[in-house]
Amino acid sequence: MGHLGFLRGSVFASVVGLSGLMAATAGAAETTGSMDAAQTSAPLPMVYDTSRGGGVYGPTMSVDAGFDFYKHGGRPEMFAAMRNRGITAARIVDTGWLDGNAHKELADEVRAAGLAPVLCMFPPTHHGLYKLHPEWRQLMLGGSDGKYDWRTYLCPSRPEVRAVLAEETVAALKAGGYAGLQIAEPWFEQWGGPEMDDGSPRPGYACVCEVCRTRFAAASGGVDAREMLTKKDSPRYWRKPANAALYKLWQDTRVDAVTSMTVEIATEVRRALPGTVVNVMVLSDARVEPGKIREYMAIDFERLIKEVQPEILCVQDSWQDWTQKGLKPDFIRDYGKLYVERFRRVKPDLWLMSHADIGSLAASKREWPWIQQFAKESLAAGFNCPSFYEWSVTVINVVGEGK
Ligand SMILES: [Zn+2]
Repeated sequence: MGHLGFLRGSVFASVVGLSGLMAATAGAAETTGSMDAAQTSAPLPMVYDTSRGGGVYGPTMSVDAGFDFYKHGGRPEMFAAMRNRGITAARIVDTGWLDGNAHKELADEVRAAGLAPVLCMFPPTHHGLYKLHPEWRQLMLGGSDGKYDWRTYLCPSRPEVRAVLAEETVAALKAGGYAGLQIAEPWFEQWGGPEMDDGSPRPGYACVCEVCRTRFAAASGGVDAREMLTKKDSPRYWRKPANAALYKLWQDTRVDAVTSMTVEIATEVRRALPGTVVNVMVLSDARVEPGKIREYMAIDFERLIKEVQPEILCVQDSWQDWTQKGLKPDFIRDYGKLYVERFRRVKPDLWLMSHADIGSLAASKREWPWIQQFAKESLAAGFNCPSFYEWSVTVINVVGEGK
């Protein structure tokens, strides 16, 4: 999902419901006799390496289980329709609301349809813990207590936050008996860095909580991060050339927090549940400002690959790409050029998954032929398989097939 995702609920609540889902799944089953329909509903190419068994290594579709759309039954038919279209894994999104029973029910339905169930969490977002522990929340430059877009943010600089996120992840994996875990969007806000274009502080930039500031003060000999980031007349102001090393140190402390959180979750999962396939989803900067993701969002690709050793790295499409109405499915080739060789230099057997947001906004809603073409382009770009966010949109696209 990613930024702007907060609009999803409002976009789809009005157009989807039980009748939409049933019409869609029924439509998918009726298409076999129609040449035209067969072309638009044909399965994805078998793009995964069957030596790894498909499943979590194959084409993957997100199911955002918190959406009302999924609370009206019809899910077994929906998962079967996915399988018929060449999807091999369903990624169940949990932002910290689902209990153990919900995980079990969803994962059982996924397995019954012949798909691999993958749990997808967005640490340090966990809506339940955010509510329970206000003292763990991040602090943004504009004063917001850890809220940006649809996400709520706990601070990963706190050891107790990292520990409890790892614990919650293990509990959810156990409850569902999931085959894989996707650690999605581990980052600090916000794209663009500490300042807006007009030079004013960027309100959503994080984190400047007590723990982050204390940690940075200890590393920098007493510099206050907030002053460095916002006070233009301070001798420590981050844009002054003399402070380049200081600002770099600040970036490093952010990267440390994000990376160590991700490592801690993966390590605890592997200790408690050996054999769980770990997938880390990072955000692309390829077609926006290549190389800036580390500074802006504390995502250090190389460190994450090296230190987490994920079996799968998923490269998420940037919102600057997926929000384009006319985006062509071959945009992924630009990602391949920049990342594929680079990432495999760090881990030669790394399984690379592409990602397309196919409908968080009306402008990014994609039809099935687009989705098929994206799967092909992903392979041509050097990725091993594609993934998509998210299914309820795809269902809307196939309503009326076979007519
Ligand atoms: Zn913090």
